[in-house]
Amino acid sequence: MGEFDLIARYFTRPAARAALGVGDDCALLQPVPGTQLAISSDMLVEGRHFFAEVDPFTLGHKALAVNLSDLAACGAKPLAFTLALALPRIDEAWLAAFSKGLLALADSHGCELVGGDTTQGPLNICITVFGEVPVVNGRSLALLRSGAKAGDDVYVSGTLGDARLALDALRGTLALPAELLAQARRRLEQPAPRVALGQALRGIASAAIDVSDGLIGDLGHILRASKVGASLDAQAITPLMASRRHPDWASAGIGPDKQLECVLSGGDDYELAFTAPASAREAVQAAAQSAATQATRIGRVEAEPGLRLMDADGKALPQRFSSFDHFS
Ligand code: ADP
Ligand code: MG
Repeated sequence: MGEFDLIARYFTRPAARAALGVGDDCALLQPVPGTQLAISSDMLVEGRHFFAEVDPFTLGHKALAVNLSDLAACGAKPLAFTLALALPRIDEAWLAAFSKGLLALADSHGCELVGGDTTQGPLNICITVFGEVPVVNGRSLALLRSGAKAGDDVYVSGTLGDARLALDALRGTLALPAELLAQARRRLEQPAPRVALGQALRGIASAAIDVSDGLIGDLGHILRASKVGASLDAQAITPLMASRRHPDWASAGIGPDKQLECVLSGGDDYELAFTAPASAREAVQAAAQSAATQATRIGRVEAEPGLRLMDADGKALPQRFSSFDHFS
């Protein structure tokens, strides 16, 4: 099988919404009048972003999921994507499973594969996604990192920290009961990008980002871009791990410090962290409900730069996660 047979067999489907899909020198997209294109790329490299032996179906899912998550953080609706793929060799079973995982997620978000590039080399997957954001009265409704204001609430969607738990277990630094590991591992390998929530938050959230590198670091990007700081409520943070509700949680023996570490600095969860004015609390919950997702209020934006972690009495916690003031 050669390069062109491979593209034809695994990555070519009739264009649905695109004016022209795979097969020519360029794909053609027809932007809807009154919208902007939102564009983002993410690359996954073997050994760096995934283990060599990872299930190719879940790898296909994740490669697109991390890109859709960027569109979600921007409040964009997915349209299309391109796939640049370096493969060490042609392995048809691998390609079949990879393309199945990739295209299943693509279909569930109405995001079509319109082109790409295929070459021989160390396994490397680079996807570029295209989405659309409405422009109303000359103003883009895209969610940016730079809009947070002192007094806004800080939120996070869904659950956080479980991907880190799975990563630690797979690296062998933590022992987990089998079923708990399986649940956390789904979180790591098959994240669900919050595409519906991102769109529902347009006009409500003042700033947003997706949590790919850990809550502290990613929230830090919002704070720096917005020239503000924030206090987070430790009591609201710790319960964010889904694993805590698993029947085997108690026997896993994971202490409060480890839980805080997973939630605050664990990456790979692909939830949305966002801010919104206190007057929008009901609107935020309605948006979360419409997207069948949770939104948990975890803190408040303040004028003072830096990120502080507060205990139940409103005292700053003098521990390592509270000292990330290089994000100020
Ligand atoms: P060119 O030489 O003009 O770059 P290619 O021969 O690389 O074109 O690709 C032929 C067609 O197949 C193009 O339309 C390209 O977008 C598409 N294509 C190549 N690789 C992929 C891929 N992995 N997934 C989807 N489309 C691809
Ligand atoms: Mg090419």
